[in-house]
Amino acid sequence: MGVAQQINEQIQKREEWVLRRQKGIPNNKRLFVLTCMDERVNIEEVLGLQPGDAHIFRNAGGLVTDDVIRSAALTTNFFGTKEIIVVNHTECGMMLKSGEEIVEALEAALGVDLTRIPLDPSLPELALKDPKAIERWFRTFESVDEITVAQVELLRNHPLIPKDVTVTGYIYEVETGRLRRPFEILSQRVNSHAEMAGNT
Ligand code: ZN
Repeated sequence: MGVAQQINEQIQKREEWVLRRQKGIPNNKRLFVLTCMDERVNIEEVLGLQPGDAHIFRNAGGLVTDDVIRSAALTTNFFGTKEIIVVNHTECGMMLKSGEEIVEALEAALGVDLTRIPLDPSLPELALKDPKAIERWFRTFESVDEITVAQVELLRNHPLIPKDVTVTGYIYEVETGRLRRPFEILSQRVNSHAEMAGNT
């Protein structure tokens, strides 16, 4: 291959990379990932993703919020995404406190009333006046297995997500560095001496 030909190919590849939205080129795996912002979850490594492979949304908990719906609706309806993967994880900070405790702690620390401040400063119309709704807005949870199943259902059933998009949820075990499916905890199925003795 001549040098000019090589350069032309590089230019072509660069153009497709830069202009992929304009050209309607989806991300490489046609994938949208929702996961927690937690630094222990190296989501690219966990899912084996390379740059260009996926649209990745991270927030506290990896939970379906209004902006997750906004982003997922855009990528599935306009950017060619066909698959959504939700990854929640063990030892998530969102299991440490209840929404009520977070509201109390924030209001005490900052001297604010959360029902009176804009939750989205660029969209003051999006207000939650009900104190109980503010508590739910923080979206704390108790069971990572239950929360994963619930996030998948929220996405599957949302009218802005096309029905042919597949939605799957996994749990990343911080303690083992591996993914598992909800309610499938392998270590609980491994024989122990006590169980073996109990069975005889
Ligand atoms: Zn987390």
